[in-house]
Amino acid sequence: MGEMWWINDYKSLNYEKKLQLHKNIMKSFEELYFCVADINLPNDYIDTICCEQFISEVLGVGGTASIRLQEIVMILSNAEYQEQLSDFFDIYTLRERTGNTNILQTEFVSQFSGWCMARFVVTDRDKDNNATGLIFTLKDINTEKLWEIEKSNTLRVDFENGKKSREDFREELKKSYETVKRANEIKSEFLSHMSHDVRTPMNAIIGMTDVAAANINDRTKVEDCLNKIKESSNYLLRLLNEIIDMNKIEIGTVDLSEDEINLTNLVQEMIRSIKTDIRAKEQHLSVKINQLEHKQVIADSVHIQQVFINIISNAIKYTPQGGKINIEVAEIANPQPGIGTFEFVFEDTGIGIQPENIDRIFEPFEREEDSRISAIHGTGLGLAIARNIVNMMGGNIRVESVPHEGSKFTVTINLKIVKENVHKKKKEPKDVFKNKRVLIVEDNELNRMVLKDILRITGCESESAVNGKEGVELFESKPEYYYDLILMDIQMPIMNGLECARAIRAMDRADAKGIPIVAVTANTFSEDVEATHQAGMNEHIGKPVDVEKLKKTQSRWFTGDYANEKQRRMS
Ligand code: ATP
Ligand code: MG
Repeated sequence: MGEMWWINDYKSLNYEKKLQLHKNIMKSFEELYFCVADINLPNDYIDTICCEQFISEVLGVGGTASIRLQEIVMILSNAEYQEQLSDFFDIYTLRERTGNTNILQTEFVSQFSGWCMARFVVTDRDKDNNATGLIFTLKDINTEKLWEIEKSNTLRVDFENGKKSREDFREELKKSYETVKRANEIKSEFLSHMSHDVRTPMNAIIGMTDVAAANINDRTKVEDCLNKIKESSNYLLRLLNEIIDMNKIEIGTVDLSEDEINLTNLVQEMIRSIKTDIRAKEQHLSVKINQLEHKQVIADSVHIQQVFINIISNAIKYTPQGGKINIEVAEIANPQPGIGTFEFVFEDTGIGIQPENIDRIFEPFEREEDSRISAIHGTGLGLAIARNIVNMMGGNIRVESVPHEGSKFTVTINLKIVKENVHKKKKEPKDVFKNKRVLIVEDNELNRMVLKDILRITGCESESAVNGKEGVELFESKPEYYYDLILMDIQMPIMNGLECARAIRAMDRADAKGIPIVAVTANTFSEDVEATHQAGMNEHIGKPVDVEKLKKTQSRWFTGDYANEKQRRMS
């Protein structure tokens, strides 16, 4: 492109005219882009100029550009574009990539708004001609894409070759347009639900914290506040977990575990967990477990329960006071040796689902548009998660429903059968954690306290360091095999968990390679997990720490190779 000509002499405009012009330009930004930000490359800083709410939740007013941009990749892109975008948004290579061009751009499909274009435009260069200032924009390009489809799609070729009638061509174009439009609608509905669903408990937490602070000497009141805070936090956590789960399942990073489970116990456990809700709505529950030829099976117990709970909690939610819910389990003959086919049916006398919506209820964030439904809490992820899990297990979910009469969900799965009494699980000795010493490396005081308390409950001793550097020094200062386990936070000032783990592994002492290091972190995306492995850590558990999970982790590492080696050296 040649040099730009400014028709009106910009410099001669008075202040007010300039201001007006700037306002107009800003206004056009808002219309054209859903995010505009200014990047200072040498300082690795991004300043938000304007953006839609869901982007602003990540960007804020600005911050470290390299981090913020990668966070945007996480919330924006579909799994298949994640790598491409992550490279495109990489701040560290920007200078090189803008060496002889002022504009970099890429197209991708975002999970909320369909086709988008991301752009970097160089606005400033230093005396060596290296880019120092950039404008970053995100733009919705669904209309352009549609135009492209219209221009170049095979549809058109077929039409022009006479293989398709004009009507068919129009119809198919319309369909692809509808798909894009629907993706946009889902996005805005989801965002408005989310901001409501997240804000409500958040307001309760902040409000109750203030109330507690104002009544700090009134024990009853403070306890009441703490209970309410706990309730809301649990709800928020559930919501977060659902969304993260959905993401993981879609990206395919969930590994199904192979647990031995007893189907009758599984159903009973499930009923126990929903009893309170059923009672509260005075619903009638009937459960029928038909003669199962095989009760002991191999399946991922957590995920299979999640499937059933998601379906039953819907049955409870969408069935009025006093309604009926039937659960039936049956085994269907399967000629394959070692495999059983099981059918789980969940039937309710609830509000039912409109025929035109029945195909959509398994899509993420889809909820029936009905005032009775919007009054009920939900994100529209339950069935999407259930279907994905069942698909991963090689099964399927079917649904039949009549509006105002009720719905019936049938889950069919093939499971490996366990020959009864072949192997019984060994019981864990109770006091296995006595005389064990854990090193906690964590910068947040509250998290440190919580971990210490949990470890105390399990009978362990613990010592702590407040950052990676302190962790390295503490480990180094102790005799070999002094610690039995290290719990390592990842994001910490001065030295982070990854660097700390690497430094420990590189030490020249007998216990450095073997000491179990478990990452305890809120970063649960697959890249983060991969990074902890790369840094030499053995395992990874999510925050907030689940006591049972931590116990399992402890017992695994306290009885592993490292523990045996320690034992050998001591005796
Ligand atoms: P959550 O993510 O909290 O489960 P949700 O219940 O809205 O939210 P899904 O479980 O995915 O989301 O269900 C999607 C939609 O399907 C519901 O919003 C509801 O409209 C419809 N639906 C699901 N199960 C039933 C049922 N048993 N009876 C009537 N409608 C149902
Ligand atoms: Mg649900």
